[in-house]
Amino acid sequence: MRKNIVAGNWKMNKNLQEGVELAKAVCGKTIANNVTVILCTPFIHLSEVSKAITNKSVFLGAQNCADKVSGAYTGEVSAEMIKSTGATYVILGHSERRAYYHETNNLLAEKTKLVLANGLTPIFCIGEVLEERESGKHFEIVKKQLTESLFELSADDFSKLVIAYEPVWAIGTGKTASPEQAQEIHKVIRDHIASKYGKTVADNTSILYGGSCNAANAKQLFANPDVDGGLIGGASLKADDFITIANSF
Ligand code: PEP
Repeated sequence: MRKNIVAGNWKMNKNLQEGVELAKAVCGKTIANNVTVILCTPFIHLSEVSKAITNKSVFLGAQNCADKVSGAYTGEVSAEMIKSTGATYVILGHSERRAYYHETNNLLAEKTKLVLANGLTPIFCIGEVLEERESGKHFEIVKKQLTESLFELSADDFSKLVIAYEPVWAIGTGKTASPEQAQEIHKVIRDHIASKYGKTVADNTSILYGGSCNAANAKQLFANPDVDGGLIGGASLKADDFITIANSF
């Protein structure tokens, strides 16, 4: 059975002390037992936040990792380093990484392999920009992102992934996909996974929605049969809002 997941993407927010406080605040809340909560922090927070996590429903993740194993890559952080902090998840392919740091489907295929090789779970982001939705290409775009980055994986490896559908036009804009739009494209994503790996793998894959998901709209979004939770940006920076979202199943 696939898991319900709510993952917070803190992006480049919170200094170390503020991050530890936020993690403690999240862990101090009552979290329903039908959800896995993940805090995806900046790299430098990982080790301290790991020590601050005291709730058995809360896990730690990074927001990116290097596409190389180790060596002379100044400024990079490897999957193995992330693993050594106690983190268990890594966001890959976030639209901000694709847009500002030119990450391609092929590069993300390499990162995915390294994350999996280190026993970490990728939260793999896909999604279309506004022009692609307006010209009706959104289904084609998400299928291409999945195929080019992930479909060389074995079924066993694919089964370890979490997918996050994040329409770029909804990220940080206050414009959320409607529950109907989310369900429609999540079903397309699940069917595409089934076409490659079969129905059992597809049915067991958690597919999260991301893009201006908040305490007021999470319930309606998560009520859809193919929406298994959320990747949350802005609303993950306030413990109360974030936990309201996590308790929305
Ligand atoms: C995100 O960046 O992954 C995201 C979903 O951001 P927001 O919730 O702020 O739209």
